[in-house]
Amino acid sequence: MSKTAYCYTCNAYHPMDEMRQVMTGKGIRWRCINTIRAARQALAKRQDFGTQTTSNNKTHAKARGFGRAATRRDSVS
Ligand SMILES: [Zn+2]
Repeated sequence: MSKTAYCYTCNAYHPMDEMRQVMTGKGIRWRCINTIRAARQALAKRQDFGTQTTSNNKTHAKARGFGRAATRRDSVS
């Protein structure tokens, strides 16, 4: 008979070797490694997307800034 623990994410019991203790707002809970891994991958994807968006925004902002600066210099001279 293998030990099981209650997974608060799945609301089900999993074998202990698939479980990890995690800190939640309500204290330490058991959570299965499958959902932990899935959550980590989702987070990594979001962070990749965020980094790309930020660098795109910076590129656009820089392009706009150069455009304005050039216009200003032209009007002065
Ligand atoms: Zn689970």
